Amino acid sequence: MRKALITGVATGQNPRVIAGWIHQALGGNLVRALRISRTEALRSYRESSRRAYQANDDVVAGWIWHAALDRRTCAFCWSQHGTLHKPGEIMATHPNCRCGTVPKTKTWEELGFKNVPETSVQVEKGTDLFERLSDERKREILGPAKFAAYKDGKLKLEDVAGFARHKEWGPVGYERSLRDILGEREARKWTAEAAKAKKMQEEPNKLIRSLLNPKRTLTDDEWKSVIEHVKRAPFASREVSVHKDIRGRTFLGRQLRGKEPSVIAHFAKRVLLENQWVDGTSEDQYLADLRSILDDHELSKVVYQGTDEKVYLGFLAPNRLPVERTGMNRRPFIWFIYSADYGTITSGYQVSSIDKITLPKGVKWR
Ligand SMILES: [Zn+2]
Repeated sequence: MRKALITGVATGQNPRVIAGWIHQALGGNLVRALRISRTEALRSYRESSRRAYQANDDVVAGWIWHAALDRRTCAFCWSQHGTLHKPGEIMATHPNCRCGTVPKTKTWEELGFKNVPETSVQVEKGTDLFERLSDERKREILGPAKFAAYKDGKLKLEDVAGFARHKEWGPVGYERSLRDILGEREARKWTAEAAKAKKMQEEPNKLIRSLLNPKRTLTDDEWKSVIEHVKRAPFASREVSVHKDIRGRTFLGRQLRGKEPSVIAHFAKRVLLENQWVDGTSEDQYLADLRSILDDHELSKVVYQGTDEKVYLGFLAPNRLPVERTGMNRRPFIWFIYSADYGTITSGYQVSSIDKITLPKGVKWR
């Protein structure tokens, strides 16, 4: 196994290939094989960078922690992103960590050059970037209990960073438990708090589900709680395929990849393909436009089960958006769908009439 790792890394093999080689030595545990090969390959690349920084410390001031900051990045790595370290410092990573280092060169002034514009890289701190994320993303990163403590000001992102020393690997990083950070009693309190919040989230979804029975009606107060709940619901965040005709096009200041978070893939289609909103409308504005119909006195609602068996609540109301924001294909109505299973908005667009909405037969509008 040792030999496979050395050969693999030295010849620049993809960790998946190396995993194939060491797979057998681990009694057929492929997940473990992949994790080890990926972790070891990255460790070796990081180590060679570190030595290069050290050897060039006359010009390299240190290295900056760089995390992918995508949906798989853990809270520990979020907290470390953008932090500056000495050239020779070993990165305190964890198994399966995908983080890398970016060299921070000395400033022109430090090198003895006056009046040269600075060109050194700037990486914004993960702790600052985190503050600007939506509550939903923060909850995903921290987990429900830590998020509840964070919302109450009892915990900061940097608190989750734990450091230890492994006898073989040297410095390692890990995410500290809530108990470790706030103590047993507080940890229990926030775990209970998070469970309560989850239950309150579930209540409106139960009401929606009950409307699958066409004879069931909701009281005004029950509708109010459902509407308030949907107003706070985020758009679905999982990554979905981007329509092939718009892949690679620029949208909201960057290039569309093959897969994007659902809201981006969805909204890009409404703007670039269907011309329903003008290009330049922000994601937040689009969501606000959809939610705005919830206060409309002509709002119609419908609960139905989709072909995927999930329960959806659809909203339809006249399109009263300002014309400056709508594109060439402005339509007279706005329609959007909330999923009672996922607690997210799954779709939203303009339609020309109620008949243009595909719904199961016999559903009751409310
Ligand atoms: Zn990492």
